[in-house]
Amino acid sequence: MNPLTAQQLIDLAYIIAVALFILALKWLSSPASARRGVLAGEIGAALAVVATLCNYEIIDYKWIIAALAVGAVVGVPLGLVHMTAVPQRTALSHAFGALAAAMIGIAEYYVRLPHVAKFEMVEISLEVIIGSLTFTGSLIAAGKLQEILPQRPITYKGQNIVSLSVLGAAVLMALWLVFHPEQARLFPAMVVVSLVFGVMLVTPIGGADMPTVISLLNSYAGLSAALLGFVLNNKALVVAGALDGSSGFILSVIMCKAMNRSFTNVMFGAFGQVQVSAGAAQEERTVRSASAEEAAAILGNANAVVIVPGYGMAVAQAQHKVRELYDTLTKRGVDVKFGIHPVAGRMPGHMNVLLAEADIPYDKLVDMDAINPEFPQTDVALVIGANDVTNPAAKTDQGSPIYGMPILEVDKARTVMVIKRSMSPGFAGIDNPLYYLDRTLMLFGDAKVFVGDIVRELAGGH
Ligand code: NAP
Repeated sequence: MNPLTAQQLIDLAYIIAVALFILALKWLSSPASARRGVLAGEIGAALAVVATLCNYEIIDYKWIIAALAVGAVVGVPLGLVHMTAVPQRTALSHAFGALAAAMIGIAEYYVRLPHVAKFEMVEISLEVIIGSLTFTGSLIAAGKLQEILPQRPITYKGQNIVSLSVLGAAVLMALWLVFHPEQARLFPAMVVVSLVFGVMLVTPIGGADMPTVISLLNSYAGLSAALLGFVLNNKALVVAGALDGSSGFILSVIMCKAMNRSFTNVMFGAFGQVQVSAGAAQEERTVRSASAEEAAAILGNANAVVIVPGYGMAVAQAQHKVRELYDTLTKRGVDVKFGIHPVAGRMPGHMNVLLAEADIPYDKLVDMDAINPEFPQTDVALVIGANDVTNPAAKTDQGSPIYGMPILEVDKARTVMVIKRSMSPGFAGIDNPLYYLDRTLMLFGDAKVFVGDIVRELAGGH
């Protein structure tokens, strides 16, 4: 086969891979087609890798095989982490992706020295700056989520100005290099300054905002890959990077909207700093608690139940028990639906993924805007390990850090039951007035154990 035909085959494989990436994104947007979406993405990525490995310019596979082996050794355990660790795992994969892009950009610069065309130098510099800051920024984000680093925002006076000056320094060095690419000593300095900026960018942001930051870093990693595609003249990389970059950006916007926060507030607002309470909140208030037996009796007599899952269901891995509860209640003729908040859990779609894993029918998962008008006609809102996404303070307390965040209006249901282990706050670190309402019953315990107990009571008492 002559090289031209091989190249045409590679290009064809790239086109198919890109089409599969686009289909993957489309299918991933609905739980019903998400599995197909994942498969399409995987096949597309495999096809792109194989096509690249067929490039006739490769003269030796030794190092490629070694790198593939190292990647597999790191990647396989990363793929097996517990569901609750997926946000930090995602941050790590962005870090690795960005590091790879930055290193290839660095290599391309030295390979092309001393004659780097101005436009090429613009591409390389931008790509290396974005790749480097995404690498360190993602590592800090992963460290915060894994709680190796402090979750609280670390800030000091004049921080934004200092950080922006550091970024400005990297950009100035890049500009200088565009006109004087042969000044090779400046290049590593630009890389180091970009790495430092990545740390400065993410350190002042609180742990609660890390999922949004990760999706923004995802878009940076995509942008860096797209720029690398221009440097390497690889069209598949340009398109895949652009898809990655834009989808990450759209996701960040969706998350900001769901929390009623602006981008600047997430990036520069130091959300999650210790709040100075207004004082009134400190007064002693009582809650009513109930046993699994009492909860089962109330649920068994209800006509309409809305289950609201949150991060605690993920921690307890209670989704299969929740499925049993759904089955038991449905068999008794109770209408059971699930109210899904867009930022319940620790990553977008977290609840959909868990409930889909437990084979809950997709049409029973109802989005926040659609389920909210139904709460006044709901007999029981059963909150399982959710907290912030049900907090009425988001609507009423202007001083609350989550003020304005749309919530699931469970407080409008006739009875509210909340399964959680204690009175501890959720991710935003604030008290929830829902728990002190007259019609709220607290069901203290681990979500998996408590739901299991309710199912047993329902079965026994029938
Ligand atoms: P949450 O407010 O963090 O509350 C989770 C609750 O689960 C806690 O109050 C905890 O109380 C309980 N819990 C933990 N382990 C449990 C267990 N084993 N059994 C029973 N309960 C358990 O969670 P959420 O309501 O899902 O809200 C998500 C939060 O994350 C929001 O503040 C949201 O803005 C933020 N966030 C999410 C995303 C996203 O993409 N999903 C992105 C950015 C930010 P106990 O300790 O008392 O048990």
